[in-house]
Amino acid sequence: MVQLIRLRLTQDYDFDIIIIGGGHAGVEAALAAARMGCRSALMTMDAGKLALMSCNPAIGGVGKSHIVKEIDALGGIMGKAADYSGIQFRRLNLSRGPAVWSTRVQCDRRDYNQFICDTINATPEITVIEALAGAFLVENNKIVGIADESGEKYSCHSVIVCTGTFLGGLIHIGNTQTPAGRFKEEAAYRLSESLDSLGFELGRLKTGTPPRLDGSTIDFGVCEVQPGDTPIPFFSPDRQATERQQVSCYLTYTTAETKRLVTENMTTSAMFSGEINSTGPRYCPSIEDKFFRFAHKDSHQIFLEPEGNGTDDIYPNGFSTSLPEEIQLQAMRTVTGLERVEFRRPGYAVEYDYCPAYQIKQTLETKRVENLYFAGQINGTSGYEEAAGQGLMAAVNAVLKLRGEESFILDRSQAYIGVMLDDLVTRSTTEPYRMFTSRAEHRLALREDNAQDRLFAVAGKHGLVSSGHIGRLERLQDETQTEMARLEKTRVSVAELGELKKRFPRKENLSLADLLRMPGLGLTDIEQFDSGRNGVSTPAKERAAIRIRYAGYIAKQDREIARFKSMESQAIPGSLDYSELRGLKNEAREKFSRFRPSSLGQAGRIEGITSGDIAVLAVALKRWKSVTS
Ligand SMILES: Cc1cc2nc3c(=O)[nH]c(=O)nc-3n(C[C@H](O)[C@H](O)[C@H](O)COP(=O)(O)OP(=O)(O)OC[C@H]3O[C@@H](n4cnc5c(N)ncnc54)[C@H](O)[C@@H]3O)c2cc1C
Repeated sequence: MVQLIRLRLTQDYDFDIIIIGGGHAGVEAALAAARMGCRSALMTMDAGKLALMSCNPAIGGVGKSHIVKEIDALGGIMGKAADYSGIQFRRLNLSRGPAVWSTRVQCDRRDYNQFICDTINATPEITVIEALAGAFLVENNKIVGIADESGEKYSCHSVIVCTGTFLGGLIHIGNTQTPAGRFKEEAAYRLSESLDSLGFELGRLKTGTPPRLDGSTIDFGVCEVQPGDTPIPFFSPDRQATERQQVSCYLTYTTAETKRLVTENMTTSAMFSGEINSTGPRYCPSIEDKFFRFAHKDSHQIFLEPEGNGTDDIYPNGFSTSLPEEIQLQAMRTVTGLERVEFRRPGYAVEYDYCPAYQIKQTLETKRVENLYFAGQINGTSGYEEAAGQGLMAAVNAVLKLRGEESFILDRSQAYIGVMLDDLVTRSTTEPYRMFTSRAEHRLALREDNAQDRLFAVAGKHGLVSSGHIGRLERLQDETQTEMARLEKTRVSVAELGELKKRFPRKENLSLADLLRMPGLGLTDIEQFDSGRNGVSTPAKERAAIRIRYAGYIAKQDREIARFKSMESQAIPGSLDYSELRGLKNEAREKFSRFRPSSLGQAGRIEGITSGDIAVLAVALKRWKSVTS
């Protein structure tokens, strides 16, 4: 039975926690703190724009969907909001192994935002303050409050900064520059100055977005249709159905004329004219980048994605650009099906300040100022899901610290969120960080289907999910076990196998589990032999099949995880003075001092650190421990 522990720390303070920024990180932070009984203020520029999708209205995709499932397992809102507002649900990568199966949900942009606003407004622990945060109030290297730009002061125990692309935001369209965090939204300059005055290192990154199109001016008839999937793959086990109408997306292509126009006008693009020097996301290139970097390719895919049920706004995924608006329109009209297209608004690039993440701990607390946390784009990441995962973790750790309890760290074998936070604190992010399944070395253990199993115990321990949720999950686990046992027990005679018989030289009868282990056979192939499957839920069936089929690989991965854990368990004390350690190379000494790894395992993942450096550190650590104990 999980009990929400009501925390009333505020006393002389206005709030326990102030969260700056109501984007994807900020709303998960406020809601996680509320689930833990903590009273927070969500200070944001526009209370009607909570968790607004700055770019495409889609949640999930390869790598990112694993984070959404984990957020959901930790009681977060992202998956629920996507399930509620979803207008197209798809499962990606099904032709590959289950480790990389991923869910992607195209959402109704307005309904997603409304769902979040309604949830926040219905949460009594959260006070939304519509204001522009301007300065951190710090005493003795500890945060004590926030001043907004009008000079109003608010006191608190902790602050979580979730300011997205707004710090020093500068929008570029051709050679026109406008101070803004997002299209037609103010930028936050004072807060950057406040970070700078506290001694934080700031860097510049950039990202871009395509124009939005008027769907009534598009000829969808010449495009390839991409329907959604059935049964609908929801993110959250709490949702079983939707009444919303599912829509199709469309695929089209750029033409030789698009290439000519973009290439000829390359120097007018903000990204190529020298106006922008900062680094953008390599994996999400602008159309200018695509024709420049892949000059041998004559055509690129463009996905036409509806922005909602009640609107004909279309998001042309793949056509991010900062060309002058008139060139954008000319180029867009050379794409198949878009010959008569009209814009609802132009594409643009935005440059913004971020704080390289060596300045935070794995709890997301800054090393420089106590009880000050950073989450989301400010840490150099890109993406709604990455931001939301950080917001949630920052809030849990902020609350735990206020309660005087141990921090909440997910390691690389437990969650993609753990992989992301470990990557952030062991690498100097010089380009926007986004999640890929390839970043997780234990990815067979970190599947979408087992996110709840991996995290429900810790979620329950911290009061992040209700006892009802845990009960439902325990029942699903039991059902999965029963189903696995049934599949092992249920025999199929060789005679029954028909055509399949040729593939199995064995004479004796087989179990359904044996069939599942055969290469090329899946759940649908065995259904014809399985009269007893009725009544078993789809999630239990799928989970049982994956566990049976990949049991050998999973066991191998478990052994690797045991080795990983043994390195992680060799903790390095935070007070260790690397300048005192003999035998370390200067480069390793400088990196260890900068990143301050928490374990020997983490030290080994710091960029440029060799196994030789780790051997020296291990010996030095042993010596240091014997001297200090
Ligand atoms: C033009 C554009 C294109 C993008 N393209 C992509 C893409 O292709 N792929 C991708 O993965 N991601 C993309 N992103 C990034 C994605 O939008 C962000 O990664 C994600 O929204 C970050 O979440 P966040 O919570 O950190 O910040 P945001 O969602 O940006 O939210 C920040 C919030 O903080 C508020 N705020 C900021 N400063 C203050 C202040 N001083 N006081 C009060 N409130 C403040 C803002 O009003 C806003 O509500 C793009 C973003 C933009 C702007």
